[in-house]
Amino acid sequence: MTVWSKLENRGRIRTGVPLGPMTTYKLGGKARWYTEPDDPDALGIIVEALAAEPVPILILGQGSNLVVAESGFDGVVVKLGSGFRNMELDGGVLVTDGGVPLPRIARFALDRGYSGLEFAVGIPGSVGGAVHQNAGCFGVETVDRLLGAEVVDLLTGERRQCDVEALDMSYRHSAIGDSDLVVSARWSLTSGNVDEGRTTIRQITRWRRDHQPGGSYNAGSVFKNPPGEESAGAIIDRLGLKGFAVGGVSVSRKHANFFVASEDARPEDIKGLVKAVADRVAQETGIKLEPEIEFVGMDLREH
Ligand SMILES: Cc1cc2nc3c(=O)[nH]c(=O)nc-3n(C[C@H](O)[C@H](O)[C@H](O)COP(=O)(O)OP(=O)(O)OC[C@H]3O[C@@H](n4cnc5c(N)ncnc54)[C@H](O)[C@@H]3O)c2cc1C
Repeated sequence: MTVWSKLENRGRIRTGVPLGPMTTYKLGGKARWYTEPDDPDALGIIVEALAAEPVPILILGQGSNLVVAESGFDGVVVKLGSGFRNMELDGGVLVTDGGVPLPRIARFALDRGYSGLEFAVGIPGSVGGAVHQNAGCFGVETVDRLLGAEVVDLLTGERRQCDVEALDMSYRHSAIGDSDLVVSARWSLTSGNVDEGRTTIRQITRWRRDHQPGGSYNAGSVFKNPPGEESAGAIIDRLGLKGFAVGGVSVSRKHANFFVASEDARPEDIKGLVKAVADRVAQETGIKLEPEIEFVGMDLREH
């Protein structure tokens, strides 16, 4: 019996868990193994299993930047459980677990008299996902407010406290590797400015409602903005691609860098649309757009 089937028998992991419902696209197949460790001991058991019998790892946050293949993920999916969703103020520093939904950190801080995290309000990811991606909006990125993060390497069990410089964060990039699990993060806060902060939250929420296809199946911006003045969305819009579709997925009519999926869409349709739009942009402008969304179990280069 393998280490993984023993863990299944002990109720530590589950097999054949559908991943679609755990992503904002609501698409994709099953995880071969799935676990939601609730505390450091449960996490330690997964680390031991990986050391004894290594398998591919997918760390899952809120699934708001992922497209999972129809074939699912042939490895172990690790999502921080309810024991990793706490927050506390430590002096003027906010300490959040990696599984906390990102929008919550903004309101938690404001309710306690601190501002500075308002940018997080409209990003439907987790703290861990935000650190991994250096998520940001409205001119503020995670790196601007992050002091550091605690990371566990699931392959070695090594636990390290990284200050923000060590995370080497830049536009939608960090040094967090595929097996690095962000278990907590420390955020710098500004004392006061709470009324301004609440106004900013209202402005961000209204702007998103007016300019983005909220309520539909999507994963936010599909492409990173290329260097230069023109955003990826503006380029796609300029080429008249709003509404352009592959299968059940189309370029949003509200925001050209959002690709929205219909009920009958398939993950392959998203891949097809990403490739078709990137090819068209490259042909017509010479600009090479790079995806911001991540594909799981699918290679964008394959047909
Ligand atoms: C409507 C909408 C609007 C959005 N707007 C924005 C925006 O304004 N700005 C922006 O930057 N993004 C935006 N996004 C994209 C997305 O919310 C962010 O990229 C977010 O940071 C992803 O977090 P997640 O927890 O959902 O990560 P997932 O999608 O689950 O995973 C993304 C990556 O992060 C890794 N990861 C997740 N959790 C951890 C962890 N604990 N430790 C280590 N790695 C981890 C995963 O392995 C994967 O590589 C938007 C998405 C949607 C659906």
